[in-house]
Amino acid sequence: MSLKIYNSLTRQKELFTPLHAPFVGMYVCGPTVSGESHLGHARPFITFDVLYRYLLNLGYRVRYVRNITDAGHFEEEGREAEDKISKKATLEKLEPMELVHKYTRLYHSAMAQFNNLPPSIEPTATGHIVEQIEMIKHILSEGYAYEVNGSVYFDVEKYHQDFSAKGQPYGILSGRILDEQLESTRALDNQDEKRNKSDFALWKKAPPEHIMRWQSPWGDGFPGWHIECSAMSSKYLGAEFDIHGGGMDLQFPHHECEIAQSTVANQVMPARYWIHNNMITINGKKMGKSYNNVIKLSELFSGNHPLLEQAYSPAAIRFFILQSHYRGTLDFSNEALQAAEKAFKRLWEAYQWLMKSNSPLQHKDVSDAALDQKIRTLLDEMDEFMNDDLNTAKVLANLFELATLINSLKDGHLPAGSIGTAALTAMQQQMKRYMEDIFGLQQEQELGGGKLDGVLQLLIDIRKDAKAKKDFVTSDKIREELSRLGVQLKDEKDGGVSYQLS
Ligand code: ZN
Repeated sequence: MSLKIYNSLTRQKELFTPLHAPFVGMYVCGPTVSGESHLGHARPFITFDVLYRYLLNLGYRVRYVRNITDAGHFEEEGREAEDKISKKATLEKLEPMELVHKYTRLYHSAMAQFNNLPPSIEPTATGHIVEQIEMIKHILSEGYAYEVNGSVYFDVEKYHQDFSAKGQPYGILSGRILDEQLESTRALDNQDEKRNKSDFALWKKAPPEHIMRWQSPWGDGFPGWHIECSAMSSKYLGAEFDIHGGGMDLQFPHHECEIAQSTVANQVMPARYWIHNNMITINGKKMGKSYNNVIKLSELFSGNHPLLEQAYSPAAIRFFILQSHYRGTLDFSNEALQAAEKAFKRLWEAYQWLMKSNSPLQHKDVSDAALDQKIRTLLDEMDEFMNDDLNTAKVLANLFELATLINSLKDGHLPAGSIGTAALTAMQQQMKRYMEDIFGLQQEQELGGGKLDGVLQLLIDIRKDAKAKKDFVTSDKIREELSRLGVQLKDEKDGGVSYQLS
């Protein structure tokens, strides 16, 4: 039995065969740290965490690379290249790196709360300017880029012409046809320094007010967004690697551009399996600023958003996401999340009871062979479902059937000993494997609600006493350590202290 995974590149499920088994190289596009991550970001990070965990569980030795975009290139959002990080930094009177680190810390804290494993390497765009410049030089020398006025653009049309003949046209991943793109956009393009609208920036000249800038052979500027992923994936995973992942919204233009750049620089399609998760909608609508329905992760965890009826724990959100197949859309609503929260609790309690109650279940083996067989089937099917393009939803359905059985034992509706020792052991092992090792589910934080309030209030009081005694080492330590755990203390004007969970 082997893992089959849907490859967006070939538009079909394929047997997963690593290039250099048992090693697997996986690259996933990470966050842009110019702001806080929101609910929509939770899905790719949890989806690819489960894939990472599953590959490890199958015995592969995985190098998982997930970047941090901290250089701020957002030219696809407006006509002019605009560096949001620099813009916001000026408004808030912060150093760009201060802002970047603030949001990086919040992001890491959210990832830890979701119980996502850290990637093997988490490279930053600003830490790889040299590699990006080298790759741009290489693409220029191959003749697939041109310099205009201190900026460098990728020549999409030339690439498309040359590589269509080699079976790799521009648009191979997203299915977009270049001719159509050109026709629909050329009319708008009269002021652009690009030769064609579909060309994209590899390097942008920095206007004088631009704070984030680096020296390059083309003058002071900053790299385009797409080049960072090409440069960092090939540096850490090689020219050709196994898996490239991200949200479906990244297929075009981001991943299409990555494919073009990497193919020119390395003469090979960078990744063999392109995996994309579908989006999260909110009450049936696309999430976006124009709909006023962007829910940040900290708002989700605290319940502090007009659309939220309550706070939702990271464990419940993780469970909610795993309840649907990663390629289907997932609609968020208070109702759906409350149902997920309840379901998770029921499953987790049954699982805990099973793991802790060996002796009463095994005191005599008068097991029912048909029941044992049913359990075996449910357990085996879980592997089949997971190997069928990571169908976590179906695995969870089987886990619920097992939970119903466990609850029958617990309530005495099934007599103790109904399940044979071997089936019981298999059930314990497989449930632990899926629930904890592969799905990364964990007990809801013990310090929920009132207890957490109490503990934080105690720390705030200790910090207040320390400050009164001018023991700033202690007061700063409390603030910093809490901040690291995602708890931000805020000194209020009235002398009180409030806190915010992120
Ligand atoms: Zn990327």
